[in-house]
Amino acid sequence: MKKIRNFCIIAHIDHGKSTLADRLLEYTKTVDARAMKAQVLDSMDLEQERGITIKSHAIQMMYTLNGQEYILNLIDTPGHVDFSYEVSRSIAACEGALLIIDSTQGIQAQTISNLYLAIDHDLEIIPILNKMDLDNAMPEIVEDQIIGLIGCKRTDIIRASGKTGLGIEEILERIVNDIPEPKGIEDAPLQALIFDSVFNPFRGVIAYLKVENGILRKGDQVKFVNASKEYVVDEVGALKLGMFERSELKAGSVGYIICGIKTAREVKVGDTVTHSKAPCEKAIDGFEEVKPMVFAGVYPIDSEDYEDLRAAMEKLQLNDASLTYEPESSAALGFGFRCGFLGLLHMEIVQERLDREYDMNVITTVPNVLYHVHTTRGETINVYNPSGLPATTTIDDIDEPFIRANIITASDFIGPIMTLCLDKRGTLLKQDYLTTDRVEMVFDLPLGEIVFDFYDKLKSISKGYASFDYHMLDFRPAKLVRLDILLNGEMVDALSTLIHFNNAYSFGKRMCEKLKELIPRQQFDIAIQAAIGAKIISRETVKAVRKDVTAKCYGGDITRKRKLLEKQKKGKKRMKQVGNVEVPQNAFLAVLKLD
Ligand code: GDP
Ligand code: MG
Repeated sequence: MKKIRNFCIIAHIDHGKSTLADRLLEYTKTVDARAMKAQVLDSMDLEQERGITIKSHAIQMMYTLNGQEYILNLIDTPGHVDFSYEVSRSIAACEGALLIIDSTQGIQAQTISNLYLAIDHDLEIIPILNKMDLDNAMPEIVEDQIIGLIGCKRTDIIRASGKTGLGIEEILERIVNDIPEPKGIEDAPLQALIFDSVFNPFRGVIAYLKVENGILRKGDQVKFVNASKEYVVDEVGALKLGMFERSELKAGSVGYIICGIKTAREVKVGDTVTHSKAPCEKAIDGFEEVKPMVFAGVYPIDSEDYEDLRAAMEKLQLNDASLTYEPESSAALGFGFRCGFLGLLHMEIVQERLDREYDMNVITTVPNVLYHVHTTRGETINVYNPSGLPATTTIDDIDEPFIRANIITASDFIGPIMTLCLDKRGTLLKQDYLTTDRVEMVFDLPLGEIVFDFYDKLKSISKGYASFDYHMLDFRPAKLVRLDILLNGEMVDALSTLIHFNNAYSFGKRMCEKLKELIPRQQFDIAIQAAIGAKIISRETVKAVRKDVTAKCYGGDITRKRKLLEKQKKGKKRMKQVGNVEVPQNAFLAVLKLD
């Protein structure tokens, strides 16, 4: 009888999770040396290029220790806060975790937040110091940090290198010896946890799951409890580098299920699969519907591409259930969509996929968060867009989402980070020294302040030596106003923002200054104004210039002249006409570039 061990790897980004996984796959001959390419787990193009893991994947390895054969299921987890719910479900499917820490970097924000998740789920933790081949490794110092964090013994920590293969054998032995066997009961009602899914154009949705109890067989009639949908199982199987069909998956196993599901929306990560006829008593704990928190308008650059954009959105949503979209129109940008994203990285990914996979050129407007607006009539409305804010006189109260942020940094940067977070309306909850010169700071912050330029600022003031992670907290009352921008008296809806009253004046001023830099001079003066309601709070002017590109072609070279004119026309295409003013695309993101 083969025994099973299910584990995941938790690590801060770039600490070497994918590389170490590659070594495990190589050592267990799961991937033969010829097929081996760096980071086989990161299968999407985008992931490989950016070196980040967006979707979690699972992979099975065979390993024999002292004559006993083991099935080791490695469940890979995404490394970014936007996908933290997926991380938590992947962790829930495991009995153990490899905690990887870069020995040149030490503990970082994501190390801690993922570790807490693993501890919450009672996972056995195997601490690993990675990148020991590097000259600037500081094993003793980082070991002290790990001991302080999880209270293990120094000898429990494995020294490893994903580059040289140091420690790989020891890691495999510890997985077998330390991580408990899954506790599932085979003859109990079926209970399987979906921890991820992917979309395949030919097979439909392939859901990855762990069978907690019971047995899942091909041909079974199953129910997805939270989605409350029923299907017949077309195929089940194990996940190696590809899919390997099996007749059944027993309690404790990790694998996939295909049952002809055509859209990703029907399969919710965290859902429980059970038998329709003999269902389990209750669904597996911890199910949450993931909701987009960050919204932005997505518009085709060429308005003729609107229908193509709609088709692309539809297709994207087939395999990305967390993306939402609905039609929206803007006086400045025409017809487009208001899209909902999990966070900023998710937004960037969608934008990039539109460009790469669908060849769509789009403008994405400044992102904003979801607001709960309480009206004087006692209603609560969800506002996804500054222009959706009802008239001030009908607003009783506005609530905005708050996050709890975890920042880890060298003690030198405490001051500037404190200033930044307070400036972003944060409150400090905790400041703990992990070692004499490393500090963990915990803040509550409005999410709306983070979506602007928080990451970049944090990075620059800490010279890259601060790491940041967060989770959603709650909604809290906020004194927000809508700040509008007018160009020659005409309001540009795509430039409106919701902003805290106290920051509105300085923000309006900086917006006008920035737009003055970004909007090219035209043949007349352009007035740029910032307004709150009817009140103008700031003004700049772009002075007129007579721009004639053909002026420098003296003489009669007509082809050269024509070429220049065509070039100018093309340049115009990347401009949007607002009233009589031409606005370049980057101006719509001006707010992200304020200093
Ligand atoms: P992940 O973000 O945690 O998946 O990290 P990756 O596995 O993508 O590694 C991040 C970077 O560190 C890559 O450039 C790797 O080549 C490098 N790296 C990973 N492990 C080691 C190691 O043990 N030694 C050295 N020198 N570099 C490593
Ligand atoms: Mg990776």
